[in-house]
Amino acid sequence: MAHDVAAGPAKGKLVIRNLGLILSGELERPLLDGDAIIVVDGRIQAIGRAAELDLAGADLEIDAKGSAVSPGLIDSHCHPVFGDWTPRQNQLGWIEMGVNGGVTTLVSAGEVHLPGRPKDALGVKALAITAQRCFQNFRPAGAKVIAGAPVPELDFGREVYADIKASGIRHIGEIGLGTVAKGRDARRVTDWCRELGLESIMHTGGPSIAGSHFVDKDDVLEAQPDVVSHINGGPTSIAHADVRALCEKATGALEVVHNGNERSALVALEAAQEAGRLADLLIGTDAPAGSGVQPNGVLRMITLLSSLGGLKAELAFCLATGNIARRRSLDAGLIKAGMPADFVFLDKPQHSSGRDLLEAVSFGDIPGIGMVMIDGIVRTGRSRSTPPSHSAPVVLGH
Ligand SMILES: [Zn+2]
Repeated sequence: MAHDVAAGPAKGKLVIRNLGLILSGELERPLLDGDAIIVVDGRIQAIGRAAELDLAGADLEIDAKGSAVSPGLIDSHCHPVFGDWTPRQNQLGWIEMGVNGGVTTLVSAGEVHLPGRPKDALGVKALAITAQRCFQNFRPAGAKVIAGAPVPELDFGREVYADIKASGIRHIGEIGLGTVAKGRDARRVTDWCRELGLESIMHTGGPSIAGSHFVDKDDVLEAQPDVVSHINGGPTSIAHADVRALCEKATGALEVVHNGNERSALVALEAAQEAGRLADLLIGTDAPAGSGVQPNGVLRMITLLSSLGGLKAELAFCLATGNIARRRSLDAGLIKAGMPADFVFLDKPQHSSGRDLLEAVSFGDIPGIGMVMIDGIVRTGRSRSTPPSHSAPVVLGH
Protein backbone atom coordinates (compact mmCIF):
# COMPACT_ATOMS: atom_id res chain seq x y z
CA MET A 1 0.00 0.00 0.00
CA ALA A 2 2.90 2.34 0.69
CA HIS A 3 3.31 3.60 -2.87
CA ASP A 4 -0.16 2.96 -4.21
CA VAL A 5 -2.07 6.13 -5.00
CA ALA A 6 -5.00 4.04 -6.20
CA ALA A 7 -5.54 2.92 -2.60
CA GLY A 8 -6.71 6.34 -1.42
CA PRO A 9 -8.70 8.12 -0.30
CA ALA A 10 -10.19 5.58 2.06
CA LYS A 11 -13.80 4.59 1.53
CA GLY A 12 -16.20 4.28 4.41
CA LYS A 13 -16.48 5.61 7.93
CA LEU A 14 -13.52 6.02 10.26
CA VAL A 15 -13.96 6.88 13.93
CA ILE A 16 -11.10 8.21 16.05
CA ARG A 17 -11.69 8.25 19.80
CA ASN A 18 -9.81 9.15 23.00
CA LEU A 19 -7.87 12.07 21.57
CA GLY A 20 -6.04 13.98 24.29
CA LEU A 21 -5.74 17.21 22.32
CA ILE A 22 -6.88 18.46 18.90
CA LEU A 23 -4.67 21.04 17.17
CA SER A 24 -6.68 22.82 14.45
CA GLY A 25 -3.94 24.47 12.39
CA GLU A 26 -5.74 27.82 12.73
CA LEU A 27 -4.03 30.63 14.63
CA GLU A 28 -7.34 32.19 15.71
CA ARG A 29 -8.39 28.99 17.47
CA PRO A 30 -5.42 26.62 17.63
CA LEU A 31 -7.05 24.08 19.99
CA LEU A 32 -10.43 22.49 19.34
CA ASP A 33 -12.89 21.17 21.90
CA GLY A 34 -13.38 17.46 21.66
CA ASP A 35 -11.89 13.99 21.89
CA ALA A 36 -13.19 12.39 18.69
CA ILE A 37 -13.13 12.84 14.93
CA ILE A 38 -15.33 11.19 12.32
CA VAL A 39 -13.98 10.73 8.78
CA VAL A 40 -16.05 9.66 5.80
CA ASP A 41 -14.45 8.64 2.50
CA GLY A 42 -11.13 10.18 3.49
CA ARG A 43 -12.46 13.59 4.54
CA ILE A 44 -13.28 14.97 7.97
CA GLN A 45 -17.00 14.92 8.66
CA ALA A 46 -17.22 15.97 12.32
CA ILE A 47 -15.06 16.90 15.32
CA GLY A 48 -16.31 16.92 18.90
CA ARG A 49 -17.00 14.95 22.06
CA ALA A 50 -17.56 11.22 21.59
CA ALA A 51 -20.70 11.46 23.70
CA GLU A 52 -22.22 13.94 21.27
CA LEU A 53 -21.18 12.38 17.94
CA ASP A 54 -22.69 9.48 16.01
CA LEU A 55 -19.90 6.92 16.28
CA ALA A 56 -21.98 3.94 15.18
CA GLY A 57 -21.30 1.91 12.06
CA ALA A 58 -17.55 2.55 11.79
CA ASP A 59 -15.63 0.59 9.18
CA LEU A 60 -12.44 1.37 11.03
CA GLU A 61 -11.95 2.60 14.57
CA ILE A 62 -8.86 4.08 16.15
CA ASP A 63 -8.28 4.48 19.86
CA ALA A 64 -5.89 7.42 20.13
CA LYS A 65 -4.96 6.40 23.72
CA GLY A 66 -4.78 10.05 24.73
CA SER A 67 -2.48 11.17 21.90
CA ALA A 68 -2.77 14.64 20.45
CA VAL A 69 -3.65 15.04 16.78
CA SER A 70 -2.36 17.71 14.44
CA PRO A 71 -3.19 18.37 10.81
CA GLY A 72 -0.61 16.62 8.62
CA LEU A 73 2.42 18.89 8.46
CA ILE A 74 3.22 20.73 5.23
CA ASP A 75 6.75 21.37 4.05
CA SER A 76 6.40 24.69 2.26
CA HIS A 77 9.80 24.39 0.61
CA CYS A 78 11.58 21.30 -0.66
CA HIS A 79 13.40 20.12 -3.77
CA PRO A 80 12.14 16.75 -5.02
CA VAL A 81 13.36 15.38 -8.35
CA PHE A 82 11.88 12.04 -9.40
CA GLY A 83 10.78 9.09 -7.34
CA ASP A 84 11.76 8.89 -3.71
CA TRP A 85 15.38 9.66 -4.56
CA THR A 86 17.47 12.77 -4.15
CA PRO A 87 20.59 13.31 -6.24
CA ARG A 88 21.64 16.09 -3.83
CA GLN A 89 22.71 13.47 -1.28
CA ASN A 90 22.30 10.34 -3.40
CA GLN A 91 19.72 9.16 -0.92
CA LEU A 92 16.70 6.92 -1.30
CA GLY A 93 13.49 7.07 0.69
CA TRP A 94 13.74 10.65 1.96
CA ILE A 95 10.08 11.47 1.29
CA GLU A 96 8.87 8.34 3.07
CA MET A 97 11.07 9.29 6.02
CA GLY A 98 9.54 12.78 5.91
CA VAL A 99 6.12 11.16 6.39
CA ASN A 100 7.63 9.49 9.46
CA GLY A 101 8.44 13.04 10.60
CA GLY A 102 4.78 14.03 10.23
CA VAL A 103 4.94 15.65 6.77
CA THR A 104 1.98 14.72 4.59
CA THR A 105 2.22 17.45 1.93
CA LEU A 106 5.41 18.76 0.30
CA VAL A 107 5.59 21.78 -1.97
CA SER A 108 8.39 21.83 -4.53
CA ALA A 109 10.42 25.01 -4.84
CA GLY A 110 11.96 23.68 -8.06
CA GLU A 111 13.25 20.33 -9.34
CA VAL A 112 16.69 21.91 -9.53
CA HIS A 113 18.76 18.99 -8.32
CA LEU A 114 18.07 16.93 -11.43
CA PRO A 115 21.52 16.18 -12.86
CA GLY A 116 21.99 18.20 -16.05
CA ARG A 117 18.65 19.95 -15.65
CA PRO A 118 17.59 21.83 -18.80
CA LYS A 119 17.57 25.63 -18.87
CA ASP A 120 15.99 26.26 -22.26
CA ALA A 121 12.30 27.12 -22.26
CA LEU A 122 11.09 23.88 -23.81
CA GLY A 123 13.24 21.75 -21.52
CA VAL A 124 12.20 23.70 -18.40
CA LYS A 125 8.52 23.34 -19.29
CA ALA A 126 8.91 19.65 -20.07
CA LEU A 127 10.70 18.99 -16.80
CA ALA A 128 8.08 20.82 -14.74
CA ILE A 129 5.17 19.08 -16.45
CA THR A 130 6.82 15.67 -16.11
CA ALA A 131 7.64 16.22 -12.42
CA GLN A 132 4.12 17.38 -11.67
CA ARG A 133 2.47 14.49 -13.50
CA CYS A 134 4.83 11.90 -12.00
CA PHE A 135 4.13 12.98 -8.43
CA GLN A 136 0.41 13.01 -9.08
CA ASN A 137 0.81 9.29 -9.80
CA PHE A 138 3.46 8.50 -7.23
CA ARG A 139 2.95 9.08 -3.53
CA PRO A 140 5.71 7.68 -1.29
CA ALA A 141 3.98 6.47 1.91
CA GLY A 142 0.95 8.45 0.72
CA ALA A 143 2.74 11.83 0.71
CA LYS A 144 1.23 14.51 -1.51
CA VAL A 145 4.11 16.08 -3.42
CA ILE A 146 3.08 19.25 -5.24
CA ALA A 147 5.84 19.29 -7.82
CA GLY A 148 6.37 20.99 -11.16
CA ALA A 149 8.03 24.29 -10.27
CA PRO A 150 9.83 25.70 -13.34
CA VAL A 151 12.77 27.98 -12.58
CA PRO A 152 12.69 31.32 -14.46
CA GLU A 153 15.49 32.19 -16.90
CA LEU A 154 16.16 35.62 -18.42
CA ASP A 155 15.26 34.64 -21.97
CA PHE A 156 11.75 33.42 -21.11
CA GLY A 157 9.00 35.69 -22.42
CA ARG A 158 5.46 35.94 -21.12
CA GLU A 159 4.37 33.15 -23.48
CA VAL A 160 6.52 30.65 -21.58
CA TYR A 161 4.63 31.39 -18.36
CA ALA A 162 1.32 31.28 -20.23
CA ASP A 163 2.24 27.79 -21.50
CA ILE A 164 3.22 26.76 -17.98
CA LYS A 165 -0.11 27.92 -16.61
CA ALA A 166 -2.04 26.27 -19.44
CA SER A 167 -0.33 22.95 -18.72
CA GLY A 168 -1.78 22.84 -15.22
CA ILE A 169 1.23 24.03 -13.23
CA ARG A 170 0.24 26.11 -10.16
CA HIS A 171 3.49 27.82 -9.16
CA ILE A 172 6.96 28.62 -10.44
CA GLY A 173 10.24 27.56 -8.85
CA GLU A 174 12.40 29.96 -6.89
CA ILE A 175 13.31 33.09 -8.80
CA GLY A 176 17.06 33.38 -8.26
CA LEU A 177 17.97 29.73 -8.85
CA GLY A 178 18.27 30.55 -12.55
CA THR A 179 19.46 33.69 -14.34
CA VAL A 180 16.56 35.87 -13.17
CA ALA A 181 17.68 37.31 -9.84
CA LYS A 182 17.82 41.09 -9.92
CA GLY A 183 14.78 43.02 -8.79
CA ARG A 184 13.82 44.55 -12.15
CA ASP A 185 13.98 41.23 -14.03
CA ALA A 186 12.21 39.43 -11.22
CA ARG A 187 9.44 42.03 -11.18
CA ARG A 188 8.67 41.33 -14.82
CA VAL A 189 8.25 37.65 -13.95
CA THR A 190 6.08 38.24 -10.88
CA ASP A 191 3.86 40.62 -12.87
CA TRP A 192 3.33 38.01 -15.58
CA CYS A 193 2.67 35.33 -12.98
CA ARG A 194 0.09 37.50 -11.27
CA GLU A 195 -1.69 38.24 -14.55
CA LEU A 196 -1.72 34.53 -15.40
CA GLY A 197 -2.63 33.21 -11.96
CA LEU A 198 0.67 31.46 -11.25
CA GLU A 199 2.05 31.65 -7.73
CA SER A 200 5.55 33.19 -7.58
CA ILE A 201 8.28 32.38 -5.07
CA MET A 202 11.73 33.96 -4.72
CA HIS A 203 14.98 32.74 -3.20
CA THR A 204 16.27 35.13 -0.55
CA GLY A 205 19.90 35.42 0.59
CA GLY A 206 23.23 34.13 -0.63
CA PRO A 207 23.60 31.47 -3.33
CA SER A 208 22.65 27.99 -2.11
CA ILE A 209 25.22 26.29 -4.30
CA ALA A 210 27.63 27.35 -7.03
CA GLY A 211 25.55 28.52 -9.99
CA SER A 212 22.62 30.03 -8.08
CA HIS A 213 22.44 33.74 -7.28
CA PHE A 214 22.43 36.27 -4.46
CA VAL A 215 19.06 37.88 -3.88
CA ASP A 216 18.97 40.80 -1.44
CA LYS A 217 16.21 42.67 0.34
CA ASP A 218 15.85 45.26 -2.43
CA ASP A 219 15.44 42.58 -5.11
CA VAL A 220 12.64 41.00 -3.09
CA LEU A 221 10.93 44.32 -2.42
CA GLU A 222 11.04 45.28 -6.08
CA ALA A 223 9.66 41.91 -7.23
CA GLN A 224 7.17 41.35 -4.37
CA PRO A 225 6.80 37.59 -4.93
CA ASP A 226 3.83 35.72 -3.44
CA VAL A 227 6.23 33.85 -1.15
CA VAL A 228 9.52 35.21 0.18
CA SER A 229 11.31 31.85 0.13
CA HIS A 230 13.55 31.21 3.13
CA ILE A 231 13.68 34.73 4.50
CA ASN A 232 16.28 33.26 6.90
CA GLY A 233 18.59 32.25 4.05
CA GLY A 234 19.05 29.10 2.08
CA PRO A 235 21.35 28.77 3.94
CA THR A 236 23.17 32.15 3.90
CA SER A 237 21.01 34.88 5.41
CA ILE A 238 20.64 38.53 4.54
CA ALA A 239 21.43 40.90 7.45
CA HIS A 240 19.03 40.82 10.37
CA ALA A 241 17.98 44.42 9.71
CA ASP A 242 17.05 43.36 6.17
CA VAL A 243 15.05 40.37 7.49
CA ARG A 244 13.15 42.85 9.62
CA ALA A 245 12.61 45.19 6.67
CA LEU A 246 11.11 42.34 4.63
CA CYS A 247 8.81 41.38 7.50
CA GLU A 248 7.52 44.95 7.42
CA LYS A 249 7.43 45.67 3.70
CA ALA A 250 7.28 42.45 1.68
CA THR A 251 3.69 41.76 0.70
CA GLY A 252 4.11 38.01 0.18
CA ALA A 253 4.18 35.21 2.72
CA LEU A 254 7.36 34.97 4.80
CA GLU A 255 8.96 31.56 4.88
CA VAL A 256 11.52 30.25 7.40
CA VAL A 257 13.34 27.00 6.66
CA HIS A 258 15.26 24.39 8.59
CA ASN A 259 18.23 24.53 6.23
CA GLY A 260 18.61 28.25 6.83
CA ASN A 261 20.14 30.52 9.43
CA GLU A 262 18.44 29.65 12.70
CA ARG A 263 19.17 32.98 14.35
CA SER A 264 17.58 34.76 11.37
CA ALA A 265 14.50 32.54 11.70
CA LEU A 266 14.07 33.84 15.24
CA VAL A 267 14.54 37.43 14.04
CA ALA A 268 11.84 36.82 11.40
CA LEU A 269 9.50 35.39 14.03
CA GLU A 270 9.95 38.43 16.25
CA ALA A 271 9.60 40.91 13.38
CA ALA A 272 6.56 39.16 11.92
CA GLN A 273 4.86 39.25 15.31
CA GLU A 274 5.70 42.93 15.76
CA ALA A 275 4.20 43.63 12.35
CA GLY A 276 1.05 41.66 13.25
CA ARG A 277 1.89 39.15 10.50
CA LEU A 278 2.15 35.81 12.27
CA ALA A 279 -0.42 34.46 9.79
CA ASP A 280 2.05 35.16 6.97
CA LEU A 281 4.88 33.11 8.53
CA LEU A 282 5.36 29.66 6.94
CA ILE A 283 7.67 26.76 7.78
CA GLY A 284 9.65 24.73 5.26
CA THR A 285 12.83 22.70 5.22
CA ASP A 286 14.59 23.51 1.91
CA ALA A 287 15.63 19.84 1.97
CA PRO A 288 17.39 18.04 0.44
CA ALA A 289 20.26 20.42 1.04
CA GLY A 290 23.97 20.50 1.67
CA SER A 291 23.26 19.65 5.29
CA GLY A 292 21.35 16.56 4.20
CA VAL A 293 17.74 15.55 4.51
CA GLN A 294 16.06 15.91 7.87
CA PRO A 295 12.89 13.83 8.25
CA ASN A 296 12.13 15.75 11.45
CA GLY A 297 12.96 19.13 9.89
CA VAL A 298 9.47 20.60 10.12
CA LEU A 299 9.05 19.35 13.70
CA ARG A 300 12.45 20.84 14.53
CA MET A 301 11.37 24.26 13.18
CA ILE A 302 8.16 24.13 15.23
CA THR A 303 10.25 23.26 18.29
CA LEU A 304 12.85 25.95 17.54
CA LEU A 305 10.28 28.73 17.17
CA SER A 306 8.47 27.62 20.31
CA SER A 307 11.40 26.86 22.61
CA LEU A 308 13.85 29.60 21.58
CA GLY A 309 11.38 32.01 19.99
CA GLY A 310 8.84 31.91 22.80
CA LEU A 311 5.94 31.16 20.48
CA LYS A 312 3.20 29.07 22.10
CA ALA A 313 3.55 25.52 20.83
CA GLU A 314 -0.06 25.32 19.62
CA LEU A 315 0.59 28.43 17.48
CA ALA A 316 3.91 27.11 16.19
CA PHE A 317 2.09 24.11 14.69
CA CYS A 318 -0.12 26.52 12.68
CA LEU A 319 2.96 27.85 10.86
CA ALA A 320 3.52 24.40 9.34
CA THR A 321 -0.15 23.66 8.66
CA GLY A 322 -2.99 26.18 8.35
CA ASN A 323 -0.80 29.19 7.57
CA ILE A 324 0.66 27.44 4.52
CA ALA A 325 -2.70 26.08 3.44
CA ARG A 326 -4.24 29.53 3.51
CA ARG A 327 -1.42 31.57 2.02
CA ARG A 328 -0.74 29.00 -0.70
CA SER A 329 -4.33 27.80 -1.28
CA LEU A 330 -3.73 24.11 -0.51
CA ASP A 331 -6.35 21.46 0.22
CA ALA A 332 -4.58 20.48 3.44
CA GLY A 333 -3.36 21.74 6.79
CA LEU A 334 -6.56 22.12 8.81
CA ILE A 335 -8.59 19.92 11.10
CA LYS A 336 -11.95 21.09 9.96
CA ALA A 337 -15.05 19.49 8.46
CA GLY A 338 -14.57 18.92 4.74
CA MET A 339 -10.75 18.81 4.82
CA PRO A 340 -8.75 15.68 3.92
CA ALA A 341 -8.11 13.33 6.84
CA ASP A 342 -4.35 13.97 6.93
CA PHE A 343 -3.43 13.51 10.59
CA VAL A 344 -0.32 13.26 12.72
CA PHE A 345 -0.89 11.61 16.10
CA LEU A 346 1.78 12.79 18.47
CA ASP A 347 2.68 13.22 22.09
CA LYS A 348 5.57 14.30 24.28
CA PRO A 349 8.54 12.00 23.70
CA GLN A 350 9.10 9.38 26.38
CA HIS A 351 10.95 10.80 29.41
CA SER A 352 10.53 14.43 28.35
CA SER A 353 10.64 16.86 31.24
CA GLY A 354 7.53 18.48 29.74
CA ARG A 355 4.20 17.40 31.23
CA ASP A 356 2.49 17.07 27.87
CA LEU A 357 3.06 17.61 24.14
CA LEU A 358 2.82 21.38 24.24
CA GLU A 359 5.11 21.80 27.26
CA ALA A 360 7.63 19.33 25.81
CA VAL A 361 7.80 21.38 22.59
CA SER A 362 8.13 24.62 24.54
CA PHE A 363 11.06 23.03 26.41
CA GLY A 364 12.74 22.19 23.09
CA ASP A 365 12.00 18.46 22.90
CA ILE A 366 11.11 17.02 19.47
CA PRO A 367 7.68 15.38 19.82
CA GLY A 368 7.15 11.66 19.29
CA ILE A 369 4.84 10.51 16.51
CA GLY A 370 2.68 7.45 17.13
CA MET A 371 0.84 7.31 13.78
CA VAL A 372 0.46 9.21 10.51
CA MET A 373 -2.69 9.04 8.43
CA ILE A 374 -3.18 10.48 4.92
CA ASP A 375 -6.61 10.66 3.27
CA GLY A 376 -7.97 8.52 6.09
CA ILE A 377 -5.46 5.73 5.48
CA VAL A 378 -2.95 4.72 8.17
CA ARG A 379 0.48 5.24 6.62
CA THR A 380 2.82 4.71 9.57
CA GLY A 381 2.61 3.34 13.05
CA ARG A 382 5.22 4.54 15.52
CA SER A 383 7.56 6.83 13.61
CA ARG A 384 10.93 5.57 12.43
CA SER A 385 12.40 9.06 12.75
CA THR A 386 11.10 10.64 15.97
CA PRO A 387 11.80 9.52 19.52
CA PRO A 388 9.07 7.20 20.82
CA SER A 389 5.92 9.06 21.80
CA HIS A 390 4.54 8.72 25.31
CA SER A 391 1.26 7.42 23.88
CA ALA A 392 0.41 5.90 20.53
CA PRO A 393 -2.92 5.14 18.85
CA VAL A 394 -4.09 1.62 18.14
CA VAL A 395 -6.33 0.44 15.31
CA LEU A 396 -9.39 -1.40 16.61
CA GLY A 397 -11.09 -1.83 13.23
CA HIS A 398 -12.46 -4.86 11.51
ZN1 LIG B 1 16.44 28.90 -2.29
